[in-house]
Amino acid sequence: MTGFRALPSVDQVLLSDRGRALIDAHGRAVVTAALRARLDAARAAIKGGADGETEAARLPHLLAADLAAGAASKLRPMLNLTGTVLHTNLGRAILAEEAIEAASAAMAAPLALEFDLDGGGRGQRDDHLRGLLCELTGAEDATIVNNNAAAVLIALNTFGQGRQAIVSRGELIEIGGAFRMPDIMARAGAQLVEVGTTNRTHPRDYEGAITAETGLILKVHTSNYRIEGFTAEVPAPALAQIARKAGVVLLNDLGSGSLVDLAAYGLRREPTVAEAVAEGADLITFSGDKLLGGPQAGFIVGRRDLIAQINRNPLKRAVRLDKIRIAALEATLRLYRDPDRLAQRLPTLRHLARPQSDIAAQAERLAPRVGALLPDYSVTATDCASQIGSGSLPTDTIPSAGLRITGQGGDAPDRLSARLRALPCPVVGHIRDGALILDLRCLDRDDDLLRALSA
Ligand SMILES: *Cc1c(COP(=O)(O)O)cnc(C)c1O
Repeated sequence: MTGFRALPSVDQVLLSDRGRALIDAHGRAVVTAALRARLDAARAAIKGGADGETEAARLPHLLAADLAAGAASKLRPMLNLTGTVLHTNLGRAILAEEAIEAASAAMAAPLALEFDLDGGGRGQRDDHLRGLLCELTGAEDATIVNNNAAAVLIALNTFGQGRQAIVSRGELIEIGGAFRMPDIMARAGAQLVEVGTTNRTHPRDYEGAITAETGLILKVHTSNYRIEGFTAEVPAPALAQIARKAGVVLLNDLGSGSLVDLAAYGLRREPTVAEAVAEGADLITFSGDKLLGGPQAGFIVGRRDLIAQINRNPLKRAVRLDKIRIAALEATLRLYRDPDRLAQRLPTLRHLARPQSDIAAQAERLAPRVGALLPDYSVTATDCASQIGSGSLPTDTIPSAGLRITGQGGDAPDRLSARLRALPCPVVGHIRDGALILDLRCLDRDDDLLRALSA
């Protein structure tokens, strides 16, 4: 028992100068709970034969470390040097300054979210975005929901519940995170009618499947894979004709859906939302935080009468957006009204459009300086390949540059990765051919990396 007596009481610790400082920093409840846990652990160790004095001496340090670890948010800002610009696991798009300012202002004060400042009556929260979306896409009307998955779900439910929804077998996709088209369809209450084959679907396949029970035809952009070789799909304009003739809704899920032609920024073309509207789909769904470069959101644009039906669906209330994101989206969409400055102002596009020569110069500049901060490793500039991410243009890579870091021993890249992830500002890259690669495409300032590594 002498061992236990070496340990202080809870009150002794809380009333000490050290204890008071911890309470100032973390609050009494948290410190007391952490202290109790540490004392329990120390008693268990002593019971197992550990020395009481030693356990008592270790206690203050261990307690402080527990509290510091508990206080550090895992959601702290980090550097995405993976080479994947829109990394779903890292939160996808980072927002433009304009969007960040609008979101902070919306957080700090009331705003006319559903209030008509002109007439003083009730307004609609979507009104702030509808005009902009129609202007930028050429659509008649628009509605906004939590994300594109919700956009697809509510559209399928509105027009397919208790009815049939026709989809090509080549487009029955899984997006990841368990978003599988057949499952979403079932949850929406629609009966899935598959047509065609994995590689080829023809107009007659759709025409032959239309019955009195058909609610809609769904076309899905195969965002995250590509079928190549002996293939055929029915283009949207032809599908629009088939749907119109049969009097059913054509829903085109674009997934990423860009508002600008990416070819202008040196990337491969992705169908724009305006093109999809012009092709004649009744409704088009796309994401807010993929190529568009805004916060998480889902958009449905298209025919006014159909959008009105979606807005009357009780699910709309369950998947609506909050004021913070509406404010950020409005600011993001406004940037698209000035395409000339878009690539400077919208981080997603700025990163995607960065020329390789620019990134390579940055890699040459940074290699010796990063090498000096990592004395046990060898750091050289290297060419590498970035990806857009989030299922956009999945088979395309963008020439990029970065740092190639190697060290002693086969596990050197893994060990270094773990160290960089544990930094106050975590740095993540990817491992390739026995080296850690830090793709610099998304590194706006050299200093951000140097400061993160110095910590
Ligand atoms: C990404 C994607 C979705 C889901 O969009 P979220 O905004 O992630 O909810 C749906 N359909 C397609 C084709 C996609 O690429």
